[in-house]
Amino acid sequence: MPPTTRIKTLLAQRRQQQLYRQPRIAGCAQQAHMQIDGKAYLSFCSNDYLGLANHSAVISAFQQAANQWGVGSGSAHLINGHSQPHQQLEEALAEFTGRERALLFSTGYMANLGVVSALMQDGDRVYQDRLNHASLLDAAKLCGARQIRFQHNNPQHLVQRMQRQTTGQAMILADGVFSMDGDTAPVRTLATLARERDAWLMIDDAHGFGVLGDNGAGLLEQEALTQDEVPILMGTLGKALGTAGAFVAGSHELIDYLIQTARTYIYTTAQPPAVAAAALTSLRLVKQEGWRRAHLKHLIQQFRSGAAQLGLELMPSQTPIQPLPVGDSGAALALSQRLAEAGMLVTAIRPPTVPKGTARLRITLSAGHSTEDVARLLEALAHSSHTNAGSARVAQAAP
Ligand SMILES: *Cc1c(COP(=O)(O)O)cnc(C)c1O
Repeated sequence: MPPTTRIKTLLAQRRQQQLYRQPRIAGCAQQAHMQIDGKAYLSFCSNDYLGLANHSAVISAFQQAANQWGVGSGSAHLINGHSQPHQQLEEALAEFTGRERALLFSTGYMANLGVVSALMQDGDRVYQDRLNHASLLDAAKLCGARQIRFQHNNPQHLVQRMQRQTTGQAMILADGVFSMDGDTAPVRTLATLARERDAWLMIDDAHGFGVLGDNGAGLLEQEALTQDEVPILMGTLGKALGTAGAFVAGSHELIDYLIQTARTYIYTTAQPPAVAAAALTSLRLVKQEGWRRAHLKHLIQQFRSGAAQLGLELMPSQTPIQPLPVGDSGAALALSQRLAEAGMLVTAIRPPTVPKGTARLRITLSAGHSTEDVARLLEALAHSSHTNAGSARVAQAAP
């Protein structure tokens, strides 16, 4: 059989199962009102939660830094690619998160792969919330440890699973804010469990960093959890901070160890220094412009109460991620298409990103939206969701 036979079959299957995906082409910067594939939309699908990706101060920090530092970093951090903007950003992130030290990675995906595979190995145990981000699942696969998944946000189930086996080092991994559900992990309980059982605890706060906490330092600020309680914090810069890259924050010793051993830190080109400079400016805006978080909170309440009035059942989320459960992949796709016809860009999230039978619309709100924007979305949902409720019921009745 020619090698292309398998991919032809898999592609056909994807299409048939309504799981086929394709990137759309944005014709403008990230913002609420966007041009996509040549059409105008009001967008509710970006992770630019604070509206900083296209902020004039962030852009000019980037431009000025590019003038001074050029574009490419030239090499990995440990060769000669680690510049002053990188160093300043690491120091600012450590201070902001209340950790001793922070380390930059080029993406959040790489940060997760790097940390887990540096700390864990064959014979160890990695415990994962079932709804953890794909990069955490892949990280555990890569490190060779046993991967044990526990029921979503169910610490009791985690305890049961931890009691079964006690050899090797243990690590508990959880998203801070679950990316497809919008709910938050019971971090304080996880911290107690980890301490009692001498396990590492790592929280991936990709969606909480910049958004949660009075100052925007994320879920661990909101829950007042220190470095002793949560020794490994991962945050990304491509979401609320509106730039790109990621960091891991923790003790001097942990970061020192990661510098020596995290392969996705060592064997990759450092992010462009101008990106670090832009992120520094974003970080300043996160701290200084608390109104962005306040406005976002207001929009979340507006959306949730409006949806309740329409009889739409949302998931229990207090974050800017507000999923609308549909169930069937085809029905989710159809609803997303009807909304697109009404000028609303909302992505249908389907397996394998979420478990089978739990396809949904993932609506994300941003401080870049106005209350009128949210009102328009609610209106479009009121017109588009009737037929959808019917097909969702049909889907649930099917095996
Ligand atoms: C987006 C995301 C990542 C990956 O971060 P990138 O910087 O986009 O690679 C990791 N974990 C979670 C929970 C995420 O949502």
